Amino acid sequence: MSTTGGAEELIESALGDGQGSAGDGPAFSMALTQDQEDVRDWVHGFAEATVRPAAAEWDEREETPWPVIAEAAQIGLYGYEGLAQFWFDESGLMMPIVNEELFWGDAGIGLSIMGTSLAVAAIFGQGTPEQSAEWIPQCFGAPDDPRVAAFCSSEPDAGSDVSAIRTTARYDEANDEWVLNGQKAWATNGGIAAVHVVIASVDRELGSRGHAAFVIPPGTKGCEQGAKVRKHGLRASHTADVHLDDCRVPGSCLLGGKEKLDERVARAREGKRAKSQAAMQTFETSRPTVGAQALGIARAAYEYALDYAKERVQFGRPIIENQAIAFTLANMKLEIDAARLLVWRAAWMGRNGIRFENAEGSMSKLKAGEVAVWATERAMQVLGGNGYTREYPVERMHRDAKIYDIFEGTAEIQRLVISRAISGMHVR
Ligand SMILES: Cc1cc2nc3c(=O)[nH]c(=O)nc-3n(C[C@H](O)[C@H](O)[C@H](O)COP(=O)(O)OP(=O)(O)OC[C@H]3O[C@@H](n4cnc5c(N)ncnc54)[C@H](O)[C@@H]3O)c2cc1C
Repeated sequence: MSTTGGAEELIESALGDGQGSAGDGPAFSMALTQDQEDVRDWVHGFAEATVRPAAAEWDEREETPWPVIAEAAQIGLYGYEGLAQFWFDESGLMMPIVNEELFWGDAGIGLSIMGTSLAVAAIFGQGTPEQSAEWIPQCFGAPDDPRVAAFCSSEPDAGSDVSAIRTTARYDEANDEWVLNGQKAWATNGGIAAVHVVIASVDRELGSRGHAAFVIPPGTKGCEQGAKVRKHGLRASHTADVHLDDCRVPGSCLLGGKEKLDERVARAREGKRAKSQAAMQTFETSRPTVGAQALGIARAAYEYALDYAKERVQFGRPIIENQAIAFTLANMKLEIDAARLLVWRAAWMGRNGIRFENAEGSMSKLKAGEVAVWATERAMQVLGGNGYTREYPVERMHRDAKIYDIFEGTAEIQRLVISRAISGMHVR
């Protein structure tokens, strides 16, 4: 076979039927399934018709948008059945797709709807199947009476340094109860949640290897909301301290069960390596989803800025006819699409049990978070003075975006995780 003939064959097969080399089905495809497209369009419709029009109001009110959560519950977007449907999509892409579309509508309202899923991820990831069946539905309540859930790991002196958690859990053997004491900080839905999932230490000397996750059932005495946090952005999402004061929960509220915890603690005391840590496990699985939320904000700001740049006339021509503006928009589109590829890769890996050898989960969240902060700032620039006012949504989008550099691991911590993963060294 001549070289030319080989090349022709290759090109032909590449352009031909879109199938893999041996005609045995696509080896790789970037196309969404019909189901994924349908769900994307359905969530987009809700975001456009219900979330966007309510965004400015709830941002100003700084209150949980219960009526919007109720609407999401009524259409099946908020609830354990919906979440299970998104989660069980084998490609892993449904969660990022849903989150991107919802947060394209508005991030504050988006987090009020999706904040529950962090507690759910902890229960699902660390609990037994029986515990998942008991507690996950209670996190959501019923469509006509929706509830939210909170995941409480951070404390005033334990943010990035999760090992510094001071909240304790003591086992009262006589009553088969756990007694929790401590203060949690910045908990999304903290104090207003039906179900709180709390990370506490059963042995402070073991640092994060002595941590365990507990479900605090609705109405448990000794679990109270502390100060509500007034924030720069995401103001429709409730954030508050949570106080645990001799808070007693049944022994069955320890996620994963006591036998498993005892084994893990015994291994840690012997100096053996832990397989996983309670809070870290939850964050690892949720990072691509959080990245997708940032993407939703970035895309919303980009689209708004693009439309504006075509309409706004200065010097007798639309401002997009200036390369400075057009290139800014081109770069925004480029960065958003690049970030999405990282998010989808990590989501696919996570769903298919492929190890994050190079901290791909952290990469996805880091990139999407930084793109969201940068793209929303650029969008304000494209809008000029209007971009700086509350009359235009990009100002809110920029305030909302900043948290994606901070929560679920700051940008610095993500870089630390990536550096350690790629080098195998204990980078500090
Ligand atoms: C709106 C909002 C919602 C939140 N929701 C939740 C929630 O639902 N549940 C929950 O548990 N927590 C929640 N948090 C807390 C959040 O996860 C923490 O704020 C975050 O982990 C950072 O911790 P910190 O604020 O204590 O910052 P610090 O850890 O004090 O960090 C301060 C700065 O120092 C840097 N830094 C720290 N250590 C290092 C290091 N080793 N190397 C390099 N730089 C370093 C950080 O990157 C950061 O820039 C929320 C926070 C906010 C603001």
